[in-house]
Amino acid sequence: MKYAEVLLSQGNINQGHFYLPRGTDLFPADALGGKNKSEMAILLKVVFTGTGEVVHTDIDREKSLFRLARGQSRRFIEKHRLTAGDKIYITKTGDRQFSVSNKIITEPTLNSVLDEFNSEVIRALNESPENRKLQLDKAPKKPDKKTVEITSYIRSPYVVAEVLDRANGTCERCKSSAPFKRKSDGSPYLEVHHRVPLSENGDDTVENALALCPNCHRELHFGFNA
Ligand SMILES: [Zn+2]
Ligand SMILES: [Zn+2]
Repeated sequence: MKYAEVLLSQGNINQGHFYLPRGTDLFPADALGGKNKSEMAILLKVVFTGTGEVVHTDIDREKSLFRLARGQSRRFIEKHRLTAGDKIYITKTGDRQFSVSNKIITEPTLNSVLDEFNSEVIRALNESPENRKLQLDKAPKKPDKKTVEITSYIRSPYVVAEVLDRANGTCERCKSSAPFKRKSDGSPYLEVHHRVPLSENGDDTVENALALCPNCHRELHFGFNA
């Protein structure tokens, strides 16, 4: 996976921050913002390994650092007990997602594979129909395989049951009825979604969960309202 490495100086350690490499094409150009917060660019999602903290931030182009990640950077440096001369790796793990780690990340994640696939689809949609036809003709009929590393959160079945009971067969967002019944027990089919994702340190609680119809659920993850 694509990454950049950063060499920490004593000054970085004292300040509890690190500078991003300049002139790299690792970061999308639209994530580079101006000096002031009013000149903020489009946000990236940055995941700090070890502390598990997640921050949505752009890059302050002038200072060359993640604008909103001061606390997270300091805690990351402390957690891994980094000292001057140590390296930090910034890896592109998804379309607008980056991981900050003290080791090189080699395993693709499910998200990085899906994001990469998504941008391939958009690229294919923008090609001419003739070229697409050409590509289709020479494409192998059986797909390639890739093994990915998945972190799975063990959710409480009681939270799901409680939220489904609260919704009583109606989507808690658009208020329409569940679109069909489950084959397994005949109950109305709704999906339980976390407002603050578990991967972003959200709680697995009834308060942080919503029962949604599949349309609303997909929209919250992929739509403009995401
Ligand atoms: Zn709905
Ligand atoms: Zn969800």
